[in-house]
Amino acid sequence: MISVSDVSKVYSLESGDFYALKNNNLHVRKGEFVAIMGPSGSGKSTLLQLLGGLDLPTSGQIVVDGVELSTLNEKERTLFRRTKVGFVFQNYQLLPMMTVGENISLALSANNAPKAKIKSVVEKLLADVNLQGKESAFPSQLSGGQQQRVAIARALAMKPSLILADEPTGNLDRKNGEDILKLLSKLNKEEQITVVMVTHDQQAAQTADRIIFVRDGLIVEEGRKGGYQNETLANRMV
Ligand code: ADP
Repeated sequence: MISVSDVSKVYSLESGDFYALKNNNLHVRKGEFVAIMGPSGSGKSTLLQLLGGLDLPTSGQIVVDGVELSTLNEKERTLFRRTKVGFVFQNYQLLPMMTVGENISLALSANNAPKAKIKSVVEKLLADVNLQGKESAFPSQLSGGQQQRVAIARALAMKPSLILADEPTGNLDRKNGEDILKLLSKLNKEEQITVVMVTHDQQAAQTADRIIFVRDGLIVEEGRKGGYQNETLANRMV
């Protein structure tokens, strides 16, 4: 599903070249749920942005669902993001002036889907995330957990094969965080959607099949589910 080969991301700074990621390799199978952990500034978000085609690597190859991302032009990359990848962010990134229904259907509208189809897709997605009847509400009228569920519904609108989540539970209390993880896990198991999730939360990471640790721009270690005690995970975060 995802193949990262010898990928580096270099930022040119006044002080010289800075490697946010250095010569990394990573393979994720279709239907896998992978957590990425590591200290702040280690390159986790950069990696997620590259996987989602939000940015391009300085060198190396990234293939997602059979598509080599650096061969795409700007327009093709936008289409790739819109149709193949669902993004979920820590701060939800819903548009405040739009209703829940409009936020969820943005990509469908952009692809000129008919109104009736949009309505039925929005209703189904709201049911999937347990927010029936909220299509006319505005994001500010919802709790954080509800907003994140809207964001997940939006991510699912185009039936993506991949969900990329950057600290999806970072702004939520434990109960709401657990609900979001359960939802991601359900989508992963039942719909075979591949999930790659950056998290600081050890319990959240244990939801994944595999945990990948990033440090100073390098993927340094991988662990299988249940292979780490929380204490060990905590040591990897500093
Ligand atoms: P993490 O998600 O693990 O906290 P990031 O991927 O956001 O880390 O950042 C990795 C490193 O790359 C950090 O040192 C950060 O300052 C640097 N970085 C990220 N984006 C840019 C940019 N646009 N220009 C320069 N440096 C950047």
